[in-house]
Amino acid sequence: MCLFCKIVNKEIPSNIVAENDDFLAFHDINPKAPVHILAIPKKHVDSFHEVDPTIMGGMTEFIKEVAEKMAMENSGYRVITNIGENGGQEVKHLHFHVLGGAKLKWEHFSDSHPMENF
Ligand code: AMP
Ligand code: ZN
Repeated sequence: MCLFCKIVNKEIPSNIVAENDDFLAFHDINPKAPVHILAIPKKHVDSFHEVDPTIMGGMTEFIKEVAEKMAMENSGYRVITNIGENGGQEVKHLHFHVLGGAKLKWEHFSDSHPMENF
């Protein structure tokens, strides 16, 4: 069973922010912003690339609920999902990073020149 499935099953503790029958949100153990929450479907899906659109419908509403719970709906926030090797995905259970609580940086994501493929 994967790490986040164990968190869903409460076999591994997490600091839960929001939960319903289908989704769970908890604080990232290694936060990269003042607010850094992970929102996941309870059903195991490897990544965004495999997710069913019906799950994404509920996921979208759930992420908005999390943002509101953290009072970020007016100040703004960022939603990121890493996919596979180049995306930098470490945990192979679909998760959305919900980041905010301060003005976030937006920098080059790679050492290779951004225009080299144009
Ligand atoms: P990613 O690199 O997109 O796969 O993100 C995985 C995220 O999971 C990282 O930001 C980690 O800090 C976070 N993480 C790993 N283990 C735990 C855990 N036990 N509880 C909460 N967050 C975790
Ligand atoms: Zn899983």
